[in-house]
Amino acid sequence: MPESHTSGEMHGCVVCGRLYQLYVVYDSHGNYVDCKVMTPGGKVVPNPTRALVACEKHSDRDIEAAVERAYPRKSKSAG
Ligand SMILES: [Zn+2]
Repeated sequence: MPESHTSGEMHGCVVCGRLYQLYVVYDSHGNYVDCKVMTPGGKVVPNPTRALVACEKHSDRDIEAAVERAYPRKSKSAG
């Protein structure tokens, strides 16, 4: 079983930037595995590659739109 480690991190809500305390799990290569929101009022935004958090009061639609803005799925060619 691969070793993983948990790190406590502050992350801002993807919609409004409010800070939340997260426990983020990484594998032995430093790749993001999972996360958990420790601050009341926040929820994890499911994402395969990074820890994301949003306030519970935001709608799924608002959160999706904010994630799209911050982390566009189509990456532009490097240059
Ligand atoms: Zn928010």
